[in-house]
Formats: sequence, structure tokens, C-alpha cells
Amino acid sequence: MDVSLLLDDLNDHQREAVAAPQSNMLVLAGAGSGKTRVLVHRIAWLMEVENIAPFSILAVTFTNKAAREMRGRIESLMGRSLHNMWIGTFHGLAHRLLRAHHAEAGLPENFQILDSDDQYRLVRRILKAMNLDEKHWAPRQIQWYINGNKDEGLRPQHIETHGDHIQQKMRDIYAAYQDACDRSGLVDFAELLLRAHELWAKNPEVLAHYQRRFRAVLVDEFQDTNNIQYAWLRMLSNTDNNNIMIVGDDDQSIYGWRGANVDNIQHFLKDFESPATIRLEQNYRSTGTILNAANAVIDNNQGRLGKELWTDGSDGAPISVYAGFNELDEARFIVSQIRSWLNDGNALKDSAILYRNNAQSRVLEEALLHEGIAYRIYGGLRFFERQEIKDALGYLRMINHPHDDAAFERVVNTPSRGIGEKTLTQIRETARAHNCSMWQASQLLITDKALKGRALNALQSFSLLISEMEQKATDEPLEEQADIAIKQSGLYAMYKAERGEKAQARIENLEELVTACKQFIVPEEAEEMTPLSAFLAHASLEAGETQADTDQDAVQMMTIHTAKGLEFPLVFMAGVEEGMFPSQMTNDEPGRMEEERRLCYVGMTRAMQKLYITYAETRRVYGQDKYHTASRFIREIPDNCVEEVRLKSTVSRPVHNRFSRSASHEAFEHSGFQLGQRVTHRKFGEGVVLNYEGAGDHARVQVNFDDLGSKWLVLAYAKLESI
Ligand code: ATP
Ligand code: MG
Repeated sequence: MDVSLLLDDLNDHQREAVAAPQSNMLVLAGAGSGKTRVLVHRIAWLMEVENIAPFSILAVTFTNKAAREMRGRIESLMGRSLHNMWIGTFHGLAHRLLRAHHAEAGLPENFQILDSDDQYRLVRRILKAMNLDEKHWAPRQIQWYINGNKDEGLRPQHIETHGDHIQQKMRDIYAAYQDACDRSGLVDFAELLLRAHELWAKNPEVLAHYQRRFRAVLVDEFQDTNNIQYAWLRMLSNTDNNNIMIVGDDDQSIYGWRGANVDNIQHFLKDFESPATIRLEQNYRSTGTILNAANAVIDNNQGRLGKELWTDGSDGAPISVYAGFNELDEARFIVSQIRSWLNDGNALKDSAILYRNNAQSRVLEEALLHEGIAYRIYGGLRFFERQEIKDALGYLRMINHPHDDAAFERVVNTPSRGIGEKTLTQIRETARAHNCSMWQASQLLITDKALKGRALNALQSFSLLISEMEQKATDEPLEEQADIAIKQSGLYAMYKAERGEKAQARIENLEELVTACKQFIVPEEAEEMTPLSAFLAHASLEAGETQADTDQDAVQMMTIHTAKGLEFPLVFMAGVEEGMFPSQMTNDEPGRMEEERRLCYVGMTRAMQKLYITYAETRRVYGQDKYHTASRFIREIPDNCVEEVRLKSTVSRPVHNRFSRSASHEAFEHSGFQLGQRVTHRKFGEGVVLNYEGAGDHARVQVNFDDLGSKWLVLAYAKLESI
């Protein structure tokens, strides 16, 4: 191939990075400056010019979606498909390593991945077994503690407790949890990384193999690596045989709360052999206005590594700021703008709604549904995390490996078959006493007839069911196995018997699972595994990143964290108000405000052409109305970059004091209506409540009717109904 193709669409600095002689390299640059593009071109360059085989390249990205995109981009650049190249997330790559070397890593061949929900359940069971009260030992906090230690590479025996009673207890819980995982061959997410690290630390010959193999290591989004990931990279690539290129942006470090360490950029410069640093300063993504605004916001942070960003593109449209009077109004505004974007001939998939927390999506989803606009959610309630799917996967996991305690607990009494807490306790105790899985413990209890009549029968039939399912499913294609798991287990019938929309959705999801199995292609790295094992690993690892029919044109919805590295012509950032973003917790923890600001910077810099920032003056949070002011981040944007939008129908804004609860506000609330709510009137049709005044018999509301425009009505006579 003509190698000039690899350099054509690059500026001088990018070209310097792509065509540099082999060495360790840091590309440090702001958002949208082409870091990921450089990484992709560099990989192609290494193969084409330096003759490094795809087999010898390891590339790490932040999400599976990014990994797929990267592979696609390299393949289209090179015009051929690339087997053998390892591209993935840290977790995905660690998983691949552990599968290949499970024995050296001290894991059973068919070890299973424990996702965060399973982990939570397991922690709760451990607490119960240890007779610890969840009120004092919050399971989430324990989970946090365990994962945090693993991220630092610490096993229970490494933790210093300084004689502190609480610390000692936490450590004991961690140890008991780990024993339980080891007994059942379960590996949580943090464990994947720690095990992969220990695998190399304890098996120098395995490490040496990979050091010889991976001559080039490339890492995107390096600012968000944690300490164990850094240690792993360092072990792999700090030899004469390998070079490592990292790209990142300290201003986009947004996972500090989860143990990421932005100082790793500095460590890299110190720890690796003569690294070169290349800075990129030209932004190709956003308009001048968006860029200036984002630069001005991030400028409020201290101690940055310092980068300039400029664009030779046009200034573009101003950033529109909209203040909704509540979250419904905010959502409706966003949807109306998306509607006109669509009417202007644009594609939905080029628009994105970004928010701080997953929970914010619901109201937005409802508004989109109401308007019949298709949307897709990345992250959040993911397909593979839904209750019924996890139930079905639980059966599949039992078929695959009955010693999986997490799966056992999940399905043993779902659907209910009379196996109660008492029997379960007995099974758990037997498992502990014999140091065996709950499945084995059940067999023991059955053979010894150690349970009372009804319980024994119930357990016996469960045991029979699993054995039969296993027999029937062996050698069947994957989708048949899924069908057996769903039907024979009684799950399908259970949800079928439940009425209502929710149950219907569950049935549809179960059917979708069979479809997912049918469409599943065993990935190259999992060729050694059975299709079922591979599918189960896929379900745990990729949860949510691949939602159904990715081809459909739809609005993209996700948290700002998930949007990292992506770009969209039209972006909405919703809920940008004090208390939401920056979040409430920010004030309590040092350094958190700066991380929130970086998150804001990440959000803003996703936008290519047009950015909307919206907030709600009243927001219902956990069923309570909260009164919020615009986020400080909005105030940090220079005036000449923003315009405040008011919808025609919202020109007359509520006149009452927005930030204190007035008597009339209380009375209005008792009337059962809310600002921004949709209502219907017998004669005037449908509309939105815009305003109100007075109380009691004199209370009046202003409604903006879809067909007639705005009208004031006496609440007592209007007979409005909410819809
Ligand atoms: P982020 O920090 O958000 O991850 P990034 O630095 O990785 O951003 P890229 O995603 O690689 O930036 O590039 C941003 C956009 O600019 C992409 O659409 C990319 O194709 C485009 N781009 C990058 N470099 C050039 C160039 N030299 N000429 C034209 N377009 C470019
Ligand atoms: Mg990038």
C-alpha cells in the first residue's frame, strides 16, 4: 500500500507522532485534537512501515464500542481484515489472558465473571453468614472497599489495619468474600485486572512470552488508567523489546472517584525509557464558540498540565442555554429541538442527549416516547442487567457450570419452588463446612436425606431439573440452550402468568435473548471456549454496550462518562444545575469539584456544530421537589458564547419566587398539578400547565393549549385532568 495515505490527512504534529521512529511516546492533547486518530494511523504505520505483525500489537481502549470502532478504522485504512491483533479494554484483555492461562492464574477452566450486581448479592450473603448487620456494614460500601483495594493491587493480607477494629472487620469481610469467589470460580471486574497482574508477577515465563510477543503497545484515554492497570502496562512494556505509545488528556480525567490516577501521565515520563512527548493543539471537532466556551470553563481548574486548543473552523452558532421550570419542561424543550433538527433533514443518530446520572434518562425517555422519536440508551439499564435476563442467564450458567454459587442462589427458587431461606441456609452452611459449591452441598444433603420431607422434595426436583436441562442442552446450538433455559426452567411460564405491560416486556426480553444467542458469533479470542461459555462472558463484559438494532436511526442517550471519546453534531447537556452538576456530593470531597468541571469539559467538547445546555429550576428528586439554580459551569462560559432561549409558549414565566416555597405553591401542589405537566380540558383539548396564582377557590392556572395557545383558567371550574 502507498504509505503516504497514512500521513495525508494529518497535520504536522500528528504526522510526527504517527511516523516517529520506534520509541516510547506520550501524545498529550486536548479534546478533539485527533489523539485517537493518531493512534489508529500509528498502528497502521507500524504494520506497514515497521513491519510489525498484527499479532505483535496490543491496543487498549476505554470501551468495547471504542475497541470495535478502532479495529474497523484500522481495517478500512489498511484495506484488509486484521486477525490476531489484540484490541480491547483492560478488562477484556485481562479476561482473554486469564482464559488462556487459567491454570497458572489459579482459576478453574470455566471460571465465570461476577458483575457488579452479582457482587452486591454475594457481599450481602457474606455479611449474613458472618452475622453482621447491614445497617452498620453497608454492602455497597464493602463492595467499594473490596474493589478499591483490588484496584490498588491489595489482597486482604496486604492491608494494614493498624489495630483498628473496623478496618480489621472490613478486611475479614473482604477475605471471606474472596474465599467464596475462589470456591465457586467467580471473578469480579476488579479481580480480572488484579489476577492478570498476578499472573505475570508470579509466572515470569508467561510474562516473558507476552513481552516478546507485544512489540508495540498503544493506549487511548490514558488519563483514566488506575494503578493496577498502570502496573500491568509497566510490567509488559518496560523492556528493550517493546515500545509503548500513550495518548491522553489530563483535562479529561473523570474516573478519579473510581481509582483512576491522572498522575500516571507523570509517572509514565519517569518510569519509561526516554519517552518523547508530542502535543497537538488544533481541534478539528468543534466550532470556535464551543471550543472557546469549553476552554474558558476548564480554565477554572488549578494545576493543569496546560494545553492550548484552537480551531481554524468557523465560530458557528452560539451555545443555547434553556432554563426549564421543571424537568418535564426541560425534557419537552429538548424534544422540540430534536424535532426541528429532524425536520431540517438531519439524522437522529447525529444528536445526543448527555446527562450526569443515569436516573435522569427516564423523564427524557418519556418525552421522546411521547413524541414518537426513537432513541437508544448506552449504559444505564442494560439488556443483560434486566431481572428476567439475569434469571435466564442464571440457568444458562448452571447448565454451563453448576458450581457457580451466584447462579445457584439466583435461580434455586426462581420461579418459586418451595426452597426457602431455611433450606438455603443449610445449603450454605454445608458448602462452607465441606468447602464445596452449593450445588455439591445440595447433592450431599439429598443423599444424606438431611432435610425435612417437603424441603428435600423441593431440592431434589430442582437438582433433577438442572441435571435434565444440562443433559438436554449439551451439544445443542446456543439458541436451543437458551430456549431450554427459559422454557424448561419455568421462567417463561412465570412471566407469562403475570399480567401487565411489565410482564409483557419481560417476555419480549426473554425472546430477545434467544435472538441474541442466535446472532452471537464466538469472537476470535474465545475460540477455545464453548459457545455457551463465550456467550456468558460476552453478556457479563459487554452488558449494554451493544443494544438491539444499532442500525436504526435514533437519538443517542448516555451519561457524560459514557460519551468520552465520542462526538456528535448536535449535543444536549441536560440537568446542568447546582446540586445535580456539580453534584451534591462534590462539596464534601476535596478535588471532586475539579473532576466535575473536567466532566463538564468532556461533555461540552462532544459537540461538533451545536450545543444546548439545559437545566430545571424545580426538579423532583426521589419524590421531592428541589429548587436549583443554574450550574456554576454555565456561569463560567463567556457571555459572547451563549444565548438564552425562551420558547414562545414560555415567555410568561412563573412570577413567584423560584427559590422559596410560597404558600400558593404549596396549595397548587395539593391541587395535584405541577408546572410543565400535560393536562387535558374537555373543550380546549390538550396543553401544558405554565403558571398559576392565588390559592384555594381563587387559584388560577395558565395552560398553554396545543391548538389554542395560552389561557388562564380558574382551577376549581376548569376540570382539568392530568395525562
Ligand atoms: P477526545 O479527546 O475527545 O478523545 P481526540 O483527541 O481523540 O478527542 P479524535 O476523535 O481523534 O480526537 O478527532 C476528533 C475529530 O477530528 C474526528 O472527527 C477526526 O476525524 C477529526 N480529525 C482529527 N485530525 C484531523 C485532521 N488532521 N484533519 C481532519 N480531521 C481531523
Ligand atoms: Mg479520543
